[in-house]
Amino acid sequence: MKIKRIVVGMLETNCYLLYNGEEMLVVDPGADAKKIIGEIEKTGIKPKYIVNTHGHPDHVMANREVEERTGAKIIENLQEGEKITVRDSDLRIMHTPGHTKDSFCLKGELFLMGGDVLFVDGHGRTDLPGGSDAEMKETIHRLKKELPKETLIYPGHGEPFTIDEWKGDY
Ligand SMILES: [Zn+2]
Repeated sequence: MKIKRIVVGMLETNCYLLYNGEEMLVVDPGADAKKIIGEIEKTGIKPKYIVNTHGHPDHVMANREVEERTGAKIIENLQEGEKITVRDSDLRIMHTPGHTKDSFCLKGELFLMGGDVLFVDGHGRTDLPGGSDAEMKETIHRLKKELPKETLIYPGHGEPFTIDEWKGDY
């Protein structure tokens, strides 16, 4: 699986292209559809799906334009345990509330698309509507328990890091 990080918009949100052979998944096209589509075109691959880690505007705003220009299908109503397949790689959906009620991570082989759950030195805000500090704590405990230490976290903002390198508390 190849992973390309594209930084978009004023909040410097990470949009990711995950591709394997001739299949591609777009995670969090949050702004700047033109830039994202340009990067997609460079790969020569037609994306199959668009997924959002949560519904905040800086993670979803280019959904429609990327959908219209590439024909990728937006997957909505993600569910815990559900599987998204990119050629022969499976991504498992983990429901990870705390930043919002509808926050999800996508777990691949030794990597995690983390959205706004974990950042290298902390975690996503819990003071916005639907946020909960107690749920964030539970989510982080779960991730630390279930993910191997070398798992690379691709966050919604900032550089990737391993869960072992995570410097936040909880
Ligand atoms: Zn957010």
